[in-house]
Amino acid sequence: MPQNASRAAGRHFLQIPGPTPLPDRVLRAMDTPLIDHRGPEFAKLAKRCLEGIKTIFKTTNPVIIYTATGTGAWEAALVNTLSPGDRVLMVETGQFAKQWKDMAIRLGLKPEFIAGDWRTGADAAKIEDHLRQDKARAIKAVCVLHNETATGCLSPIEPIRKAIDAVGHPALLMVDTISSLASTDYCHDDWGVDVTVGGAQKGLMLPPGMSFNAVSDKALHAAKSSKLPKSFWSWDDMLNMNKVGFFPYTPATQMLQGLAVSIDMLHEEGLDNVFARHARLAEATRRAVRAWGLEVLCREAKYYSPTITAVLLPDGHDADAFRSLALETFNISYGASFGPYAKKYFRIGHLGDINDGWMMGVLATTEMALAVAGIPHKKGGVQAAMDYIVSAQSRAARVAAE
Ligand SMILES: *Cc1c(COP(=O)(O)O)cnc(C)c1O
Repeated sequence: MPQNASRAAGRHFLQIPGPTPLPDRVLRAMDTPLIDHRGPEFAKLAKRCLEGIKTIFKTTNPVIIYTATGTGAWEAALVNTLSPGDRVLMVETGQFAKQWKDMAIRLGLKPEFIAGDWRTGADAAKIEDHLRQDKARAIKAVCVLHNETATGCLSPIEPIRKAIDAVGHPALLMVDTISSLASTDYCHDDWGVDVTVGGAQKGLMLPPGMSFNAVSDKALHAAKSSKLPKSFWSWDDMLNMNKVGFFPYTPATQMLQGLAVSIDMLHEEGLDNVFARHARLAEATRRAVRAWGLEVLCREAKYYSPTITAVLLPDGHDADAFRSLALETFNISYGASFGPYAKKYFRIGHLGDINDGWMMGVLATTEMALAVAGIPHKKGGVQAAMDYIVSAQSRAARVAAE
């Protein structure tokens, strides 16, 4: 925005990997009078949300809805199933994995952290090796991130389930899907996950302040003997009240109004179409990055994230300075960098209510910002992304015509 202005024209490009741009329809749905959260109208809304959200996690079991950001649902997953001193196996995929591990320590758990270099997802073979060593079966849970938001690496979950089963290990499997749910396929039941943690402000296209635990029967069983203290996070209280369409305390009524609509929107588009759209935007973004002659932080294609691409800048260029300049000049926000790669990369979020044209606006803005910032790069990233989208959409149009 010009130095002498206090307003920037047009919409802000909110390309951080969550919160994601809020669809107007969700915004309108939330712009309603408050209702009695113990009344019949609320019970209808709650039931719609509690049933609807199961279709997003792909589970027939209950999903618990918390008035909290994703971090709260992380805590809920741990305190409802585990006891002080329990060992848990976690994988160092990046900053968010580290934060969940640090939380486990604070809660009195004993995490074992499989080291990683922040450029790949979780390796099922390493998890299997680690569990095989655990002859006493002392590890109570394996906790992984489906999508490491800090690095843009996705960890396939089915191989991890298979690894646990191959050893015949009884540990619970807990998966954080905060930045992947409703953007790429996820099957809580079919993949044998015990607790799935979700959040509102990423693929679900809602404001921050709501999060989820999807639970398996095995997790519900573990909850019966879990000894970590819990009160606000107690699954029991929630499940009992949810049965009749209510919550143990005042729920975030307006967030539920938004959630009901966001679930409708996902099904109107069709979940498979939603996933295909995210895959297309992610591939277009990576092609742009490569054409610029820059490097994607995730270094193995099998771990590429469908929702976030972290872009490494050439040595000697500060990614935080680049983000500030892009914000001032073009009114676009990117995600920051962390850990061993702090200041070395920026993240482009391509998740939520974003279409091809919007994405091209983002990539064109990014190419312009690279030029304004004087970061060495080749031209043609935008063209490469367009070529890919044109070919993907032409293929889709041909298939539709057949
Ligand atoms: C955003 C995010 C979190 C943290 O969620 P908050 O809503 O910020 O508390 C945790 N894990 C992952 C993978 C995330 O993307």
